[in-house]
Amino acid sequence: MEGSIVRRVIPSDNSCLFNAVGYVMDRDRNKAPELRQMSPAEGAPEEFDQTIFSVQRDGTVGPAERLALNLVKDQQRKRSYTDTANFTLRCGVCQIGVIGQKEAVEHAQATGHVNFQEYK
Ligand SMILES: [Zn+2]
Repeated sequence: MEGSIVRRVIPSDNSCLFNAVGYVMDRDRNKAPELRQMSPAEGAPEEFDQTIFSVQRDGTVGPAERLALNLVKDQQRKRSYTDTANFTLRCGVCQIGVIGQKEAVEHAQATGHVNFQEYK
């Protein structure tokens, strides 16, 4: 079975997984609050949030795995991702440069500045 993958941009609003699932299920990009309510609560059985795929003879979980890996390789080649460990940011308040999310968080905690811009 062959398939296809279409890449859609979902807002990176700390609910991107929920937004993506809502879009795939209902073509609705605003399902995150509703889907978050359905997340397993602390103390839920471990198997509650597991998906088990059957492994094929070739060691993959089927065509979806190959499609997903091809998509990832393509996006990596196009550099259409954010490397949050090493991206370079400039503080919008004091203009200091920081590298990676860790330094940005440290700067924000030390100064209260939370307006960062990525630069190359
Ligand atoms: Zn600053």
